Amino acid sequence: MTQTGPAGADASAPTPAKGSGRHRVVVIGSGFGGLFGTKALRRSDVDVTMVAKTTHHLFQPLLYQVATGILSEGEIAPPTREVLSRQDNAKVLLGEVTEIDLERRLVTSQVLGRETVSAYDSLVVAAGAGQSYFGNDHFAEFAPGMKSIDDALELRGRIFGAFEMAELGATRGEEVDHLLTFVVVGAGPTGVEMAGQIAELAHRTLRRDFRAINTRTARVVLVDAAGQVLPPFGAKLGEKTKKELEKLGVEVKLGAMVTDVDERGLQMKHRDGTVERIESVCKIWAAGVQASPLARTLSEQTGAPLDRAGRIGVNPDLTLPGHPEVFVVGDMIALDNLPGVAQVAIQGAKYAAKEIDGRLKGKPSQPPFKYFDKGSMATISRFRAVAMIGKLRLTGFVAWLMWLAVHLVYITGFKNRVTAVLHWFVSFLGRGRSERTATEQQIFARSALSRLERGTQDLVSDPGSYADKRIADEAERRAALEQQALEEARLTDAGERGVRVGG
Ligand SMILES: Cc1cc2nc3c(=O)[nH]c(=O)nc-3n(C[C@H](O)[C@H](O)[C@H](O)COP(=O)(O)OP(=O)(O)OC[C@H]3O[C@@H](n4cnc5c(N)ncnc54)[C@H](O)[C@@H]3O)c2cc1C
Repeated sequence: MTQTGPAGADASAPTPAKGSGRHRVVVIGSGFGGLFGTKALRRSDVDVTMVAKTTHHLFQPLLYQVATGILSEGEIAPPTREVLSRQDNAKVLLGEVTEIDLERRLVTSQVLGRETVSAYDSLVVAAGAGQSYFGNDHFAEFAPGMKSIDDALELRGRIFGAFEMAELGATRGEEVDHLLTFVVVGAGPTGVEMAGQIAELAHRTLRRDFRAINTRTARVVLVDAAGQVLPPFGAKLGEKTKKELEKLGVEVKLGAMVTDVDERGLQMKHRDGTVERIESVCKIWAAGVQASPLARTLSEQTGAPLDRAGRIGVNPDLTLPGHPEVFVVGDMIALDNLPGVAQVAIQGAKYAAKEIDGRLKGKPSQPPFKYFDKGSMATISRFRAVAMIGKLRLTGFVAWLMWLAVHLVYITGFKNRVTAVLHWFVSFLGRGRSERTATEQQIFARSALSRLERGTQDLVSDPGSYADKRIADEAERRAALEQQALEEARLTDAGERGVRVGG
């Protein structure tokens, strides 16, 4: 644990840490906000501690390609330790932040029951957002979201596993329609990309691989309660995307609210009041986001408002009311209707880093944070995408090439870029998928862990308890061996050992 920073000090005149003499910055999260914020402080006279609950930085926009076997998880999730290895003023701390004490300037993080408390002079909170099931969290067991590497690998297992189970079922003469029906909930960019890729898998990639089933008969359904596909892209691009998806064989059901999800299917209510059930084993949830619960912790301590998605209202300079030393960036914030996209997080984190650096150098504060919109894009399938850059609207191959170039630029690390390009060649020019490996644990581990009272913590010794447990185990083993030895001696003395021949 590091020393506690001076409580209540004015952050506009940052106080150096006791001991090291350097200003301590704690950054929460290793996503777009966390990593880019940490990197932006590389030349500043500060000590940065980046606390995150995963050991990698995640390029979320390409998660769907991991789920559908195009890319490996390593290509979109490099270890943050490696990325920051040359940044001497930065260290990485694994842990889930469970508490932020704004008064005492302390961040508490936990991993497998091990607690660490980090003191800060400036804090950048970039903990992002999770999936929202709109109050129906039990849907998660049957329809995983798309937010993490675990989600993507589980979905990969479920998608390819559904085709395997269908082949097995068909071989046994069983009905397999529910196994060959895939439902994606949410027609935003992630839902569109997932539905398009599953359709390509079924109709193109896998069509020669099975004997008992025809994968081209697979049904891919995209469902959304909204009245159009890709709402942020406007009605025209939304309609074009819908038509492209339908050409690929995706059934698009709009104005349909999912009301129930179970192991074998899901139920939805249409706008005219009719209720429809689709039998489907493989469902994917790509609807709704909920900001990190840390936003609530911060709101409770500062009175900053939360919106319906749990995002926290921040000052125009991204700080919290009454706490100029605390910046919140990215998906967690509610400011000027900013969208939940990577550039908002990157630009916000760089702004916060510049402000921290400027304060240390005695520079005047920057004007309020202003987001520069570089445009949005989404792929539909290979060679097809939609893009919106300022007033420009692009569709088809040109938009797809643009999507390819932009994503390549933002993938972290040279080797990841090279391997991603190779995999794209394999999948887009060829018919193959390099990353189809899926294991039983990939599919079922999440559910199994959720059945343990304390999750993974139940699988390891509590801190400090291993030595005591080993002594107790050894004593128990010794007692059992002594008991066994006594019994052996008794058998020998009584002549009861062995088998008497001809006796
Ligand atoms: C499937 C998908 C596709 C997307 N596609 C696009 C796209 O094409 N273009 C685009 O611009 N945006 C896209 N986005 C949105 C974009 O990824 C986010 O806006 C961006 O990641 C937000 O950055 P962030 O730093 O706020 O949060 P994140 O990048 O989510 O990072 C949050 C970090 O905080 C960590 N964390 C969370 N809670 C804690 C805790 N309690 N303690 C410690 N660490 C914690 C997480 O492990 C993670 O490292 C997509 C998102 C998803 C899920």
